[in-house]
Amino acid sequence: MSPNIVSVLYLISALLFIFALRGLSHPESSRTGNILGIIGMIIAIVTTLMFKSVLSYAEIGAAVLIGGFIGTIIALKIEMTALPQLVAAFHSLVGLAAVFVAAAAFYDPMSFNIGNVGSIFKSSLVEMSIGTFIGAVTFSGSVLAFGKLQGTISGNPIVFKFQHLINALIFLFIVALIVIFVLTQSSSIFWTIVVISILLGFLVVIPIGGADMPVVISMLNSYSGWAACGIGFTLSNNLLIITGALVGSSGAILSYIMSKGMNRSIISVVMGGFGGEQASVGGSDNSDKIVKQGNAEDAAYILKNADSVIIVPGYGMAVAQAQHALREMCDLLKKENINVRYAIHPVAGRMPGHMNVLLAEANVPYEEVLELEEINYDFPMTEVSFVIGANDVTNPAAKTDKTSPIFGMPILDVEKSDSVLFVKRSLATGYSGVDNELFYRDNTTMLFGDAKKMCENIVKALG
Ligand code: NDP
Repeated sequence: MSPNIVSVLYLISALLFIFALRGLSHPESSRTGNILGIIGMIIAIVTTLMFKSVLSYAEIGAAVLIGGFIGTIIALKIEMTALPQLVAAFHSLVGLAAVFVAAAAFYDPMSFNIGNVGSIFKSSLVEMSIGTFIGAVTFSGSVLAFGKLQGTISGNPIVFKFQHLINALIFLFIVALIVIFVLTQSSSIFWTIVVISILLGFLVVIPIGGADMPVVISMLNSYSGWAACGIGFTLSNNLLIITGALVGSSGAILSYIMSKGMNRSIISVVMGGFGGEQASVGGSDNSDKIVKQGNAEDAAYILKNADSVIIVPGYGMAVAQAQHALREMCDLLKKENINVRYAIHPVAGRMPGHMNVLLAEANVPYEEVLELEEINYDFPMTEVSFVIGANDVTNPAAKTDKTSPIFGMPILDVEKSDSVLFVKRSLATGYSGVDNELFYRDNTTMLFGDAKKMCENIVKALG
């Protein structure tokens, strides 16, 4: 295939990826966005397979079959609630691929048209080493994020003195190693860059814990894009450069938006940790505090007699798959002329947009679903807040307790409404491990039980 035709086809793919991202920015257009992305990827793969430099279709076919088989099994088996850790695992593979491609180019530069062994072009060495650095950081950071999200490693922040300084010094050390590598082309320096970058990836993610993990996930997403971009330079593949840059920059923008939503500084995310030095998880002993408990009939009575209700969904709604029963409940309330709206916290659930996706799946009208900044001022004028499987995103410790790891995060001010109904199975803490004093407030009623069952019972009681 002539280079001109390749360029045109790659350009078409790149445009389709840009339109795909545009489509994915809203639930209504996300399906179209996905389809455009798939078409772009098919064009990209077929075009690449037409290259003269492809030596063996048998090996590529075998790799596609094995990878496709594993991917299909994972996609069929994965629970919706385990998607964040799956994404982290996939990011780690992108990072590892960047390191392997750079190593292959370093040991066999002629196959990549970047010079000969021992006399590789300087510009290629720079690209290769930066790609290796970002890839290795992405790899180890993502493995650690996977462990934290899966619960195999404690999700608590691990902090020690001079952490930021140490990370900064290690970063400068890597920059020095890259300079030496470019000058000497030494294989031992190449592998030292890999090892130290892996160490830095761990160090950047260990101080981050509790409620701050979402920002890390989107940051690693961005890093994986830049790692792919680095591979694109090594392979002289324009489409991979563009696609990597698209993923890298959209991930960076998402990280920025989420840091803002969490009231954190993007610089400290990149440096590793949010000044988690304050981290104190757990808190007061609540064993002697009194909790007001209710059942589905009580909830139905309170809801039916309200003029306005705000639903606050959280991770527990996803676990229970309660969105359909919840919508049914809300439909009944709307029939009674009750003003029902949904309040979405930027980090509710376990991945960006988690709640929006579930509510869209249950056909909740988009105009009823409002972001934190659009609805937070309405809580004082609202009679009932119905908090379903959410916890951290309502916790006032984020405003009042300077020692709390969630301090500074904006919360949904549910306690300002006349009454708060909490649907959850126990008094257990949420992801950040911080007790929620709202459970013991006078205007709170706890509805203990599985979120889906509770909504189904409320629907019966309303009927
Ligand atoms: P939380 O993790 O704070 O709380 C979820 C609550 O759901 C738990 O307290 C649990 O209580 C309850 N729950 C679990 N299963 C059920 C069930 N079957 N039925 C009813 N309730 C159930 O969730 P939030 O959404 O409020 O906050 C999200 C947290 O996750 C934040 O700390 C956020 O930073 C973090 N996070 C978010 C990510 C994102 O991208 N959105 C990614 C990674 C982390 P009980 O056990 O008593 O039922």
